[in-house]
Amino acid sequence: MSVSSAPSDWHRSLAEAIRDPRVLLESLGLSAELLPGAESAASLFPLMVPGSYRDRMEPGNPLDPLLRQVLPIVEEHAEVAGFLRDAVGDSDSKRAPGLLHKYHGRALLVTTGSCAVHCRYCFRRSYPYQEEPRTLNDWEPAFDVLRQDPSINEIILSGGDPLMLSEVRLSDLLTLCESIPHLSRVRIHSRLPIVLPNRIDAVLTDRLRSSRLTPIMVVHANHPNEIVEDCADSLRRLVESGITTLNQSVLLKGINDSVEALASLSERLINLGVMPYYLHQLDRVQGAAHFEISDERAVEIISALRKCLPGYAVPQLVRELAGELHKVPLI
Ligand SMILES: *Cc1c(COP(=O)(O)O)cnc(C)c1O
Ligand code: SF4
Repeated sequence: MSVSSAPSDWHRSLAEAIRDPRVLLESLGLSAELLPGAESAASLFPLMVPGSYRDRMEPGNPLDPLLRQVLPIVEEHAEVAGFLRDAVGDSDSKRAPGLLHKYHGRALLVTTGSCAVHCRYCFRRSYPYQEEPRTLNDWEPAFDVLRQDPSINEIILSGGDPLMLSEVRLSDLLTLCESIPHLSRVRIHSRLPIVLPNRIDAVLTDRLRSSRLTPIMVVHANHPNEIVEDCADSLRRLVESGITTLNQSVLLKGINDSVEALASLSERLINLGVMPYYLHQLDRVQGAAHFEISDERAVEIISALRKCLPGYAVPQLVRELAGELHKVPLI
């Protein structure tokens, strides 16, 4: 459903994303010893990483913080008590196919199961996306619920990644949202401004800016090395087009569980006009136990960040607990 016959840049970048562990390892000059583990864990959740993101990794470094977010490893096979397929009670909050409603005033649409990058710690890595709507007709029950519930004034487009939708499909969904009088804001939760920066083009920013709904973009970066060059440019385009842009991160062992990494991430974000929003304690999803750090350590890190950053640059440290009425601050 492309609007023109020539694929736009971002469609091409997506088509060229790396899906083969061997190609990723070879392109970074990394040892073939990592390959069997990567291939075996990729059978649980396939590898996917766009070229732009790979280009920000340090060649020859198996511990690169960006590589570790995307490289499948054998630890993902471990079955650890308390780590579940549905870590945050998504299935209990479903009010219609594709519509999750947990918190007062805002509801969330699971618009697609696709992402441009497969984050190994993803809390929806086992989400039953095949049950969710595909065509606009399939969305009718969800929109019926929204129309009939005036308590909801903010709609969150999530997924998967909502910016994986084609321009036409995204615009159609926005149009449906705009037709509901009690909605005031549309929030987009997307990692594409970080991992597939050319997705942020004028077609997108113009569509969002011209909406009746106030747009809010929540991006997802975890490490300062992500916020360079083309990614910094995409964030600048969002901010300069007048869209409020926030960042959420996940606290990940061996990746960003240091004051230095998180302080530098916040500095880079605020220098671009992007406000740190949430720092999530890991959702306890099966296959991600090796990324978890203790609450005590997480609180220590946040306390240290408060001593070296402006107050507005310190994200809220939260954990999502099934059944709670909001994300729960840890401090
Ligand atoms: C996280 C989440 C939200 C957003 O919560 P905020 O605290 O407003 O950022 C909304 N709905 C669902 C189902 C969520 O999981
Ligand atoms: S981009 Fe978001 S939804 Fe997609 S794999 Fe990463 S964490 Fe999960």
